[in-house]
Amino acid sequence: MSSPKRRSNALLLAGGLGTRLRPLTETIPKCLVPIAGRPLLDLWINRLVEAGIGETRVNTHALAEQVRVYIGQVRAEGRHNLVESHEPELLGSAGTVTANADLADDVDEVVIVYADNFSDIDLRPLLEFHRSHDDPFTMVLFRAPNPRACGIAELDRRGRIVSFIEKPENPASDLANAGLYVVDADAYREIAAIRGFDLGHEVLPRFVGRMRGWLWGGYHLDVGTHEALERARRDATELFPARSEAGTKAPRPAVFLDRDGTLIEHVHYLDDPDHVRLAPDATAMIRRLRHAGFASVIVTNQSAIGRGFLTEARLHEIHVEMNRQLAEGGATLDGLYFCPEAPATDDRTVIESPRRKPGPGMLLQAAEELDLDLSSSWMVGDMISDVLAGLNAGCRSILLTTSEPAGTVLDAGPAGTYLTAPDLATAAEIILAGRGVDR
Ligand SMILES: [Mg+2]
Repeated sequence: MSSPKRRSNALLLAGGLGTRLRPLTETIPKCLVPIAGRPLLDLWINRLVEAGIGETRVNTHALAEQVRVYIGQVRAEGRHNLVESHEPELLGSAGTVTANADLADDVDEVVIVYADNFSDIDLRPLLEFHRSHDDPFTMVLFRAPNPRACGIAELDRRGRIVSFIEKPENPASDLANAGLYVVDADAYREIAAIRGFDLGHEVLPRFVGRMRGWLWGGYHLDVGTHEALERARRDATELFPARSEAGTKAPRPAVFLDRDGTLIEHVHYLDDPDHVRLAPDATAMIRRLRHAGFASVIVTNQSAIGRGFLTEARLHEIHVEMNRQLAEGGATLDGLYFCPEAPATDDRTVIESPRRKPGPGMLLQAAEELDLDLSSSWMVGDMISDVLAGLNAGCRSILLTTSEPAGTVLDAGPAGTYLTAPDLATAAEIILAGRGVDR
């Protein structure tokens, strides 16, 4: 029996500050944290697209410029009708519903998703279930290993939720709120009219007795902490083994960029965000390379920290400003790695530690975490230590220098050979032309 075609919109709650993921979330918004080489939001966009969702609103707050760039990419690629709902001040989950009350116009139901969960849920059977019962609200449940830390539901024999308690002392079950709801349009408008702040505390209790639970037995993890994020990244490869499946791609090539004297203008021991100036062509280069399928990852030695001239907090302020300027130019980074160690010698060709360039450690870590293919990747920098770090990681390398003609092949000894370019635009040309060098 086929039911008449129902229409659905979605609300992605993605504005959270990600405080438990600091310092990572000081430069990347939580919803764009990469797992298996792709921003977390991408997972949800894929799920919403395959479930036939018409329009999705995503609320933005911290580092909104970066999310805006992401939204622009999704729209430009024609993947989905993704629309920003900006919150200069966080409205809370219920407040976001109120601010997007019109999302229920002209549809039968609205899917509400907390975007900070990493999940392999299929929304299609969920929507079918919601349409099969006559309650206006469906809550997705998962079996929580730690029910006392969750919102716990108790079901009657028909699957109706008869009690719901946030972080119960004595949990009635291990059936926990997965942060994913399907709500009939009328119920969505009812929630919007409450003008509340938090769905969990102010809204869900009002729906007890008229909402159903739908158990998801697959993978479901709140990636709110570093430990959980690490676990999600480890599990991601097993979770999506078929790389052709929506949700993952084959390992990507990357361009690894040095920071000082390469992506931004060199300032001796830069310690003030006001002094951050992007190099000419920095945003154009990252945009062009991204378009060609390259991830962009900063790998930077920051011995000023090891020497005590700079705090990590200050370094993050500098990176926040750098990312802001990049986002203004429509560019986003896929990752940023720094090494705080102070060197013992002045020789930039000596590997003193695995992570400090010319050691390849930061590149290897990025390849692991972001699912990058090193053999098709490039390192670009203004020092021989950059060149060597790239070669030592199995990448090709470009030295930014004006003392040789563009494309000169130079010898770096046992590590191999590298190319020269006078600026980032030329480096991008070389990379896109795929010019190989014998190594
Ligand atoms: Mg440099």
